[in-house]
This record gives sequence, structure tokens and C-alpha cells, in this order.
Amino acid sequence: MSHRVFISFKKEDLSYKNKIVAKLEEKGIQVNHLDEEIRSEDIDYVMQQIRDKWQGSTTVTIFLIGTHSSENEGLDYYGRNHQSFIIRELRSALSDREGNPRDGILGVILPEMEQKVFGGSYICKHCQQTISIVRIDDSTVIREFSKNYYLRSDDCGHFEEDGRFCVLCRYNEFMQDPEKFINQAYEKLGKPIAKYVTYKGIKHEGDY
Ligand SMILES: [Zn+2]
Repeated sequence: MSHRVFISFKKEDLSYKNKIVAKLEEKGIQVNHLDEEIRSEDIDYVMQQIRDKWQGSTTVTIFLIGTHSSENEGLDYYGRNHQSFIIRELRSALSDREGNPRDGILGVILPEMEQKVFGGSYICKHCQQTISIVRIDDSTVIREFSKNYYLRSDDCGHFEEDGRFCVLCRYNEFMQDPEKFINQAYEKLGKPIAKYVTYKGIKHEGDY
């Protein structure tokens, strides 16, 4: 399967985005991404451009999880949500429309965020399994990602691979074998969990 991906990122993570683009192009994977100049213009116009021109042809959207990608970033001086672009980008990727089918979603945890996301493990009192703590919540990502990461839990309240739609990996492992993770995210589209994907009615603070 040959892929075309879209990269959703915050301007603070531009240098990682550029390294990823270079790596993917070296592997023959086509990349769509918005330049900062386009982003600074009218948001509705920009989003229409993203949907029509940029995301229409993609199979996977890569979401960079950096120090400024979380729901908790809150509002700017004008009361607008800091995440308005990435919220729209993920929403557009998750929507499933004629001529523009849903993308697989791959979250790439940037090195500065590893310690915040991975918080050790504990033994569950009910099932005695060792459970790894993975903080995919308002403190690390926007809700379009977290809600589709922790989607369906097992009887004990744990989320196994088949209960997650979004795929998660570390930046360093991604750079070693990007195709592996892009394929994994794409294959989710054909799995039963894809039926539970949610993107309508997710609430955010302020205008966005
Ligand atoms: Zn348990």
C-alpha cells in the first residue's frame, strides 16, 4: 500500500515536522502539510483548503504530540482556543465522507513528552494484570485524539489494542520504521473498532 499522509502539528514542533517530512520523502511516502503562512490566514478558508486540497487524498493523518498539543493549552487573549487548527485537522481526518474517506490516525509522541505520557505501571486489583499507564488525556492531547484512543474498554476497564482506533508511537521508533506505524494506523480503518470512531459533538473551551 502506498500512502499519502497529512501532518498535523503545532508551530513549536516545526523542526520535528521537517525531519519527518524529509524521512518520509526519502521512503517515497508523499506528505501534505500546511505552511505556517497559510495557517495565519482566515481559518474557515484554510480549513476548506485542507479538506478539499490537502486531506482529500490522504490515507493517514500523523498528529505530533508535543508540549503544546494538549486540550489544557486553553484560550488565547481573544478567547479563541489555542488548538483551533489541530482540532479541525483531526476532525476532518476522522470524518468519513464520499470522495474523502476517513484517515487512519497516528500519534507520534515527541521526545520531550515521553515522560509525561508514559507513567510506569501498576497491578490491577481485579484481574491481576500489569497495566501500563499511558496518559492520553487533556494534559497531553486534544480530545479528538484521546477519545478515539481510549475507545472501548474490556470488562475490567482496560483498553487493549482492539479497543483503540488511534495508533501511538514514540518519535524515535517512528523514524526508524515509519511505514510500519503508518500501515498500522491505516489498517485500523478495516477493523471493527472503526465503527466506534467519534468526532461529532466533542466539546472544547472557547471559540475554535
Ligand atoms: Zn483489571
